Amino acid sequence: MSNSLRVKLVIIMLLIMALLMTVVLVLLISGVQDFYTDQFTDQMETVFSKPEFVSDLRMAAGREDAVAQMNEMLFAFMGELGIDRTTRNFYILDGVTGAVLKTSSPDDNRRIEITENIITALLGENSFMVSSRADYMDAAVPIVAHDGSANFVVYIIDNKQTVQSLNAEIFVIILRAVLIGFAIAVIISLVISKTLISPIQGMTKAAEAMADGDFSRKIPVESADEIGVLAKTFNGMAGQIETMLEELQRVEALRREFVANVSHELRTPLTNIRSYAETISDDKDIPQEMEDEFLRIIINQSDRMTKIVQDLLELSRFDSGASVLSVEEFSIEQAVRDVYAAIALEARKRSHVLNLELEWKLPNIKGDRDKIEQVLMNVIANALKYTPDGGTIAIYSGTTGGDVWVKIEDTGVGIPPEDLEHVFDRFYRVDKARSRESGGTGLGLSIAKEIISRHGGDIKIESTPGSGTSVTIRLPVEGVPTEVE
Ligand code: ADP
Repeated sequence: MSNSLRVKLVIIMLLIMALLMTVVLVLLISGVQDFYTDQFTDQMETVFSKPEFVSDLRMAAGREDAVAQMNEMLFAFMGELGIDRTTRNFYILDGVTGAVLKTSSPDDNRRIEITENIITALLGENSFMVSSRADYMDAAVPIVAHDGSANFVVYIIDNKQTVQSLNAEIFVIILRAVLIGFAIAVIISLVISKTLISPIQGMTKAAEAMADGDFSRKIPVESADEIGVLAKTFNGMAGQIETMLEELQRVEALRREFVANVSHELRTPLTNIRSYAETISDDKDIPQEMEDEFLRIIINQSDRMTKIVQDLLELSRFDSGASVLSVEEFSIEQAVRDVYAAIALEARKRSHVLNLELEWKLPNIKGDRDKIEQVLMNVIANALKYTPDGGTIAIYSGTTGGDVWVKIEDTGVGIPPEDLEHVFDRFYRVDKARSRESGGTGLGLSIAKEIISRHGGDIKIESTPGSGTSVTIRLPVEGVPTEVE
C-alpha cells in the first residue's frame, strides 16, 4: 500500500511540475514574440512618422539617382531602423511593379515574397501590420517623389531570427529547470509520502492488532493536521471499544456469578425439602411429632424458595424496566408509623428498644407508597435481625431542602468496612449463616436501592463493627418524574 501511495505522490508531483513548466514556457515564448513584434511596429511607426525623414526620402526619390540616394539615406538610418543586414534588411521596391531595386541584404537577394504590407504600400498606404504567428515581421511605406515623378516602396523585413534564437534559449533554460524541478519534486514527494505514510502504517498496524483483539495499542499523535486528528479519533475509538469490552466482560462475569448464586440459593432448600420428604416417605414408623416437625421444615423451605423467586422476579422487573411505580401523594410520617407498628411486636419479642423520633409536620411526598414501605420494612427488619436481643433500634425522620430523610440506627453487630460497599450487591451477605437462618435472601438491600433510586433518591449505609449500623434513606418530596407514573 505504502509503495503505491508513494509512487502516486511522485507521479502527481511530476505532472504538476510538467504542467507548470509548460504553462511558463508557453507564456514566456508568446510574451517574447509579442514583445518583439510590438517593438518592431513601434520602431517602424516612429521612424516613418518623422516628417523630415519622409520628406528627405521623397526629395531623394525625385532625383536622377533616386535609388542610390534613398539607399544612402536608409543606410544612414540603419541604427534607428534596427537594420543589421542579417536578420533585418531594407528593400527599395519599384512603386508600381514591386520589383526589388536595392537591398541592404549582403547576398543581394532580389526575390522577395509580396506580402500584404507590400500590396497595401503599392496601393499608396503605409502598412505596419504584423501577425505574431507569421515567421517574419515587415513594414512597407510608399515613397512618392515630391514632384510626383517617381514611385517607390521602402520595405523592411525581419526574419525573426533573434526571437527564435531567444526562444530556443528560453526553451533550454526551462528544460533545465524542469529537470532540476523533477529531481526536487521526487525528493519532496518522497519526504511528504514518508510523513504521510508512517502514521497510516501505524494505524494499519494498530487496526490489525485490534482485529486480533488487542485494543491497548495506541498510535502516536504527532501532528494537529487531518492525519493527527484521524490518529486521535482512531485512538479514541480504540479506547471506547476497549472500555466497552471490559464492561461487557464485567457484566458477563456478574451474570455468571449471579446465575451461580441463584442456583446455589435454590439448591439448598431443594435438597432440604427432598431429604425430609424422603425420610417421611421411606420411614413408615416415624413418630408423629417428628413427621410434623419435618413437614414444618419442608413448608419453611418452600416458603424460602418462594421468597427468593419473588425477590428475583422483582429485581428482574426493575432490570427490564417492566416494573412501574404507582405514584401517589402520601404521608411519609404515616408510612413510617405503619412500618413501626408492624415491627413493634417482633421487636418486643426480641426485647429490643424501638424508638421513633419524627420532625414536626413531615411533608407529604410523591411516590409508590407500598414500595417505600417495603424498603423501610426491609431496612428496619435488618436492624432487628443483625442486632442481638436487647438492643436499641431508633428511627428518625426529618427534612433537608427539598428532601425527606429516614434514618434507622441499631446497636447491632455492624458491618466490616471491606463488606460495606458490597451490601447493596445481589446475594451479598456478610454472614451467610446468620442471614439464611433469619430468612434473608441477600437481595433485600439491592431491591431497596433499586426502589429508592427509581424515586430519584438515595440510600446510604454507615457502620462500625461491634457497635452498630445506620442506614439513611433520602427521598425528594416532589418524587419521581411524571413519565414513570
Ligand atoms: P439479607 O436478606 O441477607 O438481610 P440484605 O440485602 O438485606 O440481605 O442485606 C445484605 C447484607 O448486609 C446482610 O446479609 C447483612 O450481612 C448486612 N446487613 C444489612 N443490614 C445490616 C445491619 N443493620 N447490621 C448489620 N449487617 C447488616
